[in-house]
Amino acid sequence: MINMTIKEIAEITGARLNKSAQEIQDESIQGVSIDTRSIEKGNLFVPFKGENVDGHRFIDNAFEKGAGASFSEIDNDEKDVPLLLVDDGLKALQELAAAYLKKVDPKVIAITGSNGKTTTKDMVECLLRPDYKVKKTEGNYNNEIGLPLTLLDLDADTEVSILEMGMDSFGDIQFLSEMAEPDIAIITNVGESHIEKLGSRENIAKAKYEIVDGLKENGTFIYSKDYPRLEAIVEKDVPYQILTGGMDKGNDVVIESVEQTSVQTLFSLSTGDYIEIPHLGAHNAQNATLALLAAKVLGKEIYETKNYFKHLSVTKMRMEQTEHESGTLIINDAYNASASSMKSALDTVENMNRSKKVVVLADILELGEYSNEIHDGIGEYLNEKHGIDYLVTYGEAAERINEKADMPKIHAESIEAAADAVRPYLSPETVLLVKGSRGMEIERVINHLS
Ligand code: ATP
Ligand code: MG
Repeated sequence: MINMTIKEIAEITGARLNKSAQEIQDESIQGVSIDTRSIEKGNLFVPFKGENVDGHRFIDNAFEKGAGASFSEIDNDEKDVPLLLVDDGLKALQELAAAYLKKVDPKVIAITGSNGKTTTKDMVECLLRPDYKVKKTEGNYNNEIGLPLTLLDLDADTEVSILEMGMDSFGDIQFLSEMAEPDIAIITNVGESHIEKLGSRENIAKAKYEIVDGLKENGTFIYSKDYPRLEAIVEKDVPYQILTGGMDKGNDVVIESVEQTSVQTLFSLSTGDYIEIPHLGAHNAQNATLALLAAKVLGKEIYETKNYFKHLSVTKMRMEQTEHESGTLIINDAYNASASSMKSALDTVENMNRSKKVVVLADILELGEYSNEIHDGIGEYLNEKHGIDYLVTYGEAAERINEKADMPKIHAESIEAAADAVRPYLSPETVLLVKGSRGMEIERVINHLS
């Protein structure tokens, strides 16, 4: 984590030191915290003026817990704790992070996309960790606050920084990319998340493509030609290298076949490599291919790194598999949902080697005026799938999936009712998929089954 004197931080951020800070300006702070509940000794505290609470109220508390200094947007020369007076605490945090990143100077890998950012980040880490000192974004620290905090957490000897970049609207990814100036920029996929704010599918692709805005001139842009809307806007006459991977035959590295067992996915690449990952689904073969390309850019050939996937751990509620006492294989993908991730989850279940297939689907949220069309689309998609034996829907929007789907089905008015509907199907021959947006907490159905 960052270790810098108060004076150095003031020079970088243009902060003015109050009297108390001037007296100890040659002392160092270690690490940064925005939350007094998790602050550690010697940290720089950064208070934000939130909508409901003003973090400045917690400055005294931060010092009681051992803070080394604090930013403050409120001038307070007389206060007897060391304050770095700034106009805008967030901007100061971002400037400090950018300067610290330059000092550590690791290779930076930036990852965005509608789905698969966290998964791909974990995969890249898994491929590089044996050979490099790697630090990655923890959890979902992927926005204008999380990204600088991630950078400030780099160790002085970090060799590779893997950063997840998320967005709400235009300009977000550009901003994050320009802060981190990646050596490698990856777009995992382009789906339909955030369509409410961005207005069209073309705009979603454009917003993700902003990831190249901060890319170093001698860097590499990695994406998949499988997404025509993205492919249509990618400029080819650029100073940086471009590498592509995916199912489409036009990609540099093509996924030639995908096979799935109940515990892993096996796939072959046009490079002649045969790869096993402990994740389910063709979309994860895609994420893995992009991760292998990133490692290749850093000098690790696919045949050298592919076996490292054995050590990949699966994050909770993302295609997480458990066996119910009845012998049913439960796939808990209730962490979140978008149209594309719901379809990939259904594809995965379709290819599972169990004779009875039951799916519990809840609402995909934050779709605005596109909600009806997208939920209808999932219903129609289910009709194209052979072999789903029983559909349970839950939630207002998911009712439309139910109306479109032509198969044995029920729309459950409560979580209990959804669990009751599933119960008769539990058996060693059954695979049960549970999926919906985070706000739906559809994993509660699984809890009711035990
Ligand atoms: P968030 O925006 O919530 O941070 P994320 O982009 O980090 O999401 P993950 O957490 O890796 O994405 O995966 C979220 C969901 O998307 C999972 O349900 C997973 O099955 C699905 N998914 C992952 N990769 C892809 C992909 N390449 N295409 C479609 N769906 C995917
Ligand atoms: Mg994520």
